[in-house]
Amino acid sequence: MNENCATCHHDYEVTPQNGGIVLFLDYERANHVLASCPNCKAVEVIYLRSAAVVELLSRAQFPLVVQDKPTAERREAADSCWGRFESVHAQDERRKAWDELPEAPREWVRQLHDDLRSWGRTPRQGRRTVGQTAHGAG
Ligand SMILES: [Zn+2]
Repeated sequence: MNENCATCHHDYEVTPQNGGIVLFLDYERANHVLASCPNCKAVEVIYLRSAAVVELLSRAQFPLVVQDKPTAERREAADSCWGRFESVHAQDERRKAWDELPEAPREWVRQLHDDLRSWGRTPRQGRRTVGQTAHGAG
């Protein structure tokens, strides 16, 4: 698992040598990895979904602490972290949804401009044509 240190922004891999897993059986949102940045030694708490915990444990023998419930502080910290994550994630999703559209609206706007331009020309051209036809016939 790769991590970017929040303190010094150094990228590092979380390994059993610098990280350990703390699991709460009654509150999985508080499950986390405690990792210490090899660059600045800051200790980080990285909250993980169960699937990510299982994946980490299947890859290496991380030191593991299992508890039933987190403390109130831990629970609050976990909730606020997931809350931030979920709101950022929701923004990303909205941005992505918007990014998937760009060609369509831009094309549509360009087409609209073309339509407006030709609509602006068409009546005059139309009148001239009608006039010429009328002259020709008369
Ligand atoms: Zn660091």
